Amino acid sequence: MLDIRSVSKRYATRGDDLVVLRDVNLTVNAGESVAIMGPSGCGKSTLLNIAGTLEPPTTGDVTIDNENPYQLDETRLAAFRNRNIGFVFQEHHLLPQCSVLENVLIPTLVASDDNDVITRAKTLIDRVGLSDRRDHRPAELSGGERQRSAIARALICQPRVILADEPTGNLDRKSADTVADLLVQLQREFNAALVVVTHSQSLADRFDKQFDLLDGMLKPR
Ligand code: ADP
Ligand code: MG
Repeated sequence: MLDIRSVSKRYATRGDDLVVLRDVNLTVNAGESVAIMGPSGCGKSTLLNIAGTLEPPTTGDVTIDNENPYQLDETRLAAFRNRNIGFVFQEHHLLPQCSVLENVLIPTLVASDDNDVITRAKTLIDRVGLSDRRDHRPAELSGGERQRSAIARALICQPRVILADEPTGNLDRKSADTVADLLVQLQREFNAALVVVTHSQSLADRFDKQFDLLDGMLKPR
C-alpha cells in the first residue's frame, strides 16, 4: 500500500547541506502496522511528511496504492492526500471553535462524495468513545479525548494509509493506552497501512514491525 524506495532528504542550509534521510526503504502492506523509533531530530517527522505527500523526497520514490503522488499537480495531490491519507499528530490540531462532530467532518468538506458523511462521522465518534462529547469543543475535552477526536477525523475519508507522529506523546499512560488500542483496532478494521512514530516501547510493541531510524536509514529493531 505504501512503498518508500531509496528515499533521501537533504535540506539546504546556510552552511553545508543537512542530510536528514540517507537511504530509506519501507514497505507497509494494507492491514499492516509499523512503528518507527529514534532520537529527537533524527528525521522521523520528515519521513512521515514524505510518506504523507506533504514534502517531496530529494531522491527516491514514494508509491501509495500503486501511484506516485509526487507526479500529480498540486490540486490533484491535495485531493489524493485527502482521499488516501489520515494524519494524527502529537498536537491534536483540532479547530478550537468547532465541536467534535464538526472537526471530524472537516476533511469531508474537501472530498465529500456522498451524503452519508454525518452518519459515518457519528459512527466514528461512537467508535472512539465520544458519543456524549460530540458537541464539545476541543477546550472542553481532555488530552486523550482530543486525540481520539483526531483519530476519528483522520479516518473520516476512509484512508488507505494512516500516519501518526507521536500520537500519545502528550498523554498519561492510561489515555495513551486507550488511544493506541483505538488506532490499532480501527487500522485493522479499515485494512489500512499504519505508520506510527513513537518514543514509547510499549506503544511500539503493539505494531507488526518496529524500526529504528538511525543515520538516515531504517533498521529493524
Ligand atoms: P524528528 O521528528 O525525528 O525529531 P525531524 O524530521 O523533525 O526530526 O527533523 C530532522 C532534522 O531535520 C532536524 O535536525 C531538523 O532541524 C531538520 N529539519 C527539519 N525540517 C527542516 C527544514 N524545513 N529545513 C531545514 N532543516 C529541517
Ligand atoms: Mg518529530
